[in-house]
Amino acid sequence: PSDFQGKHVTVAGLGVSGIPAARALHARGAIVTVVNDGDDARAREQAAELEALGITVRLGDGATLPEGTELIVTAPGWKPDKPLFLAAEEAGVPVWGDVELAWRLRGPDAAPWLAVTGTNGKTTTVQMLASILKAAGLRTAAVGNIGVSLLDAVLGEERYDVLAVELSSYQLHWAPSLRAHSAAVLNIAPDHLDWHGSMEAYARDKGRIYEGNKVACVYNTADKATEDLVREADVEEGCRAVGFTLGTPGPSQLGVVDGILVDRAFVEDRHKNAQELAEVSDVHPPAPHNIANALAAAALARAFGVPATAVRDGLRAFRPDAHRIALVAGIDGVAYVDDSKATNTHAAEASLAAYESIVWIAGGLAKGATFDELVARSAKRLRGAVLIGADRALIRDALARHAPEVPVVDLDRTDTGAMLQAVTEAKRLAQPGDTVLLAPACASMDMFTNYNQRGDAFAAAVRELEAGA
Ligand code: ADP
Repeated sequence: PSDFQGKHVTVAGLGVSGIPAARALHARGAIVTVVNDGDDARAREQAAELEALGITVRLGDGATLPEGTELIVTAPGWKPDKPLFLAAEEAGVPVWGDVELAWRLRGPDAAPWLAVTGTNGKTTTVQMLASILKAAGLRTAAVGNIGVSLLDAVLGEERYDVLAVELSSYQLHWAPSLRAHSAAVLNIAPDHLDWHGSMEAYARDKGRIYEGNKVACVYNTADKATEDLVREADVEEGCRAVGFTLGTPGPSQLGVVDGILVDRAFVEDRHKNAQELAEVSDVHPPAPHNIANALAAAALARAFGVPATAVRDGLRAFRPDAHRIALVAGIDGVAYVDDSKATNTHAAEASLAAYESIVWIAGGLAKGATFDELVARSAKRLRGAVLIGADRALIRDALARHAPEVPVVDLDRTDTGAMLQAVTEAKRLAQPGDTVLLAPACASMDMFTNYNQRGDAFAAAVRELEAGA
């Protein structure tokens, strides 16, 4: 649209969302200034590329509102209480995130969005959804917070019938006018509260995903907060609340009956009150939380009119990304499973619920979390625990309170050999039939670059034991 012609737009943050945003706005005639807190070599390189196009870049000052700014387009991670935004509010300048910009710039015949948010399971669900949509012969892609810029997807050459969109709570916070075809909130557990300010604010931002939905608001019957958000949302007439459950589904729900995923919300055959979609064994891995993800993905696909056979084929074709409940090896009757992506307690709890008898490797950066609930609920499944990382004492204390009989190995080292020792200790505690599970419930940055590297270190350690076994 030409509305950007001559308009003074400030882009907050260089990086994956800021650079495409600055380029897109500049191409539409906006007078763009990029502001960035950092001023390192990488930022300078990126700045030089934008400056060559005629875009102004201010490095090392992300706090001051450039004079004449009429609109701010921000990187989603920027905290709402930054001075830049306070100044914008005072001056009546609107703030959009990258998702809002993509939404506004999409063409008149743009593909509708099927959107997913939640504390855990977003990436997996969006990938399952894309797999199902592809199995139905639709042109689609998994985009958004998953690492593929929405702006690129919306403005690129490729034509889509529908997009499977992962949205973080940050992105939703900055996306006031987004209107999805249908959307799902998978679950809401405390995370990122330092950013949002409170649990209420976090939930409210997640709830934005339902605003203006056309066909279905998909919620988790086991998580009342998601249902409450549907109730509070202002949706288009005819839009339905559709629940998913691991139990027998009620009307307008998807659920599980005798090992079959069943849809009672979108039934094509008027003479039937339920449509069978797939078997539980079609879902990889068939852990309870992942079946919930599959049901949410199926609900969104069905809301878009996808036939049952495509749900089955799409789920069968799907494999999760690395470090999400990945079986690394079986040694002496013990399974070694890498769920390094379980970076918070809610994720780790789901992971621990998937196995009967576990030697749990946990620890890292707690990000302000408490571990009592997680440990109390999982205690009966624990054969033992091996603790690593900076905040391991928090988990050790919770174990002492709620699972005093569980043997604990507390590893007081953070060097590169620590993971090998952790896995060796876990092997010593494990008995045939057990699972050694890396589900840290913590972030990894105290010992590793990211969760990928942590998971790789675990897998390497397991292979070393395997070779020596
Ligand atoms: P996200 O994109 O929301 O971070 P992922 O699909 O990458 O979610 O999964 C991250 C981790 O969260 C997984 O490794 C698993 O431990 C856990 N998890 C996945 N799905 C769920 C769910 N529905 N409920 C709770 N935990 C989950």
